[in-house]
Amino acid sequence: SRARRYQPEAGRRVTFADVAGIDEVRDEVAEIVDFLRHPDRYRAMGAQIPRGVLLSGPPGTGKTLLARATAGEAEVPFFAISASEFIEMIVGVGASRVRDLFDQAKQVAPAIIFIDELDAIGRSRGGGHSLGGHDEREQTLNQVLTEMDGFTGSEGVVVLAATNRPEILDPALLRPGRFDRRVTVSPPDLAGRRAILAVHTRAIPLAPGVDLDTVAASTPGMVGADLKNLVNEAALLAARRGRERVVPADLQDALEKVLLGSARGIMLTP
Ligand code: ATP
Repeated sequence: SRARRYQPEAGRRVTFADVAGIDEVRDEVAEIVDFLRHPDRYRAMGAQIPRGVLLSGPPGTGKTLLARATAGEAEVPFFAISASEFIEMIVGVGASRVRDLFDQAKQVAPAIIFIDELDAIGRSRGGGHSLGGHDEREQTLNQVLTEMDGFTGSEGVVVLAATNRPEILDPALLRPGRFDRRVTVSPPDLAGRRAILAVHTRAIPLAPGVDLDTVAASTPGMVGADLKNLVNEAALLAARRGRERVVPADLQDALEKVLLGSARGIMLTP
């Protein structure tokens, strides 16, 4: 028998409890969870099941986390790939990998396939791409579309994809029966940042003086990935300083470090 190239992700089950500050978005994918849990109900009703959901939003807002949590809530296998991994491939390899991936998922369905950075293969054919990867990109994209078009609805496979750049996607991807559900994942507001900080400090001992409302108020513009990083930096500082709990000064210093890091990053960008 052939080696399995794609395996469902293993590890701790991620659920909606791990995804904070994006409640509306969670509600939108709840429908997918229900379908994956009870496919027979939907089939009996003759309902057209969504095949593809496009998650769009800036980096670090939790698109991957949300996709993983959707699979966790539904308790179905989660197959994750990044479309950028197909870019360097020899023509034909990407398409065959896509076929493999869908075959594996169908075998263990109900299941979720997650395609990160969909724009890497899914950008509009109209223009803007370098000559090199062009054919390969197009063949890989075509294979994804072929697989999704081939769904009869009884496979029980739902494809979630993420992009930071929905505006450059080929309109063919967004047609009915493909990624016809669009979910926008926005950077969190104040309450959202507060909720994300609460999730990421669950396992961190905080001194009584630490006020997450204040931290949330000091971090405008930060997304979930930034806040996770901030909390971790504060915990590292507290440990290095020999404390038993994180105190406000650790968070303040971590914030300065994180902000300085990103400012330097911006200045270094050509
Ligand atoms: P990218 O576009 O860069 O792939 P993304 O939107 O997929 O980013 P994730 O990879 O899901 O972002 O986020 C990185 C990490 O940041 C997550 O694993 C999680 O720990 C944390 N995080 C991001 N958003 C949230 C959120 N809404 N709630 C809790 N944690 C979050």
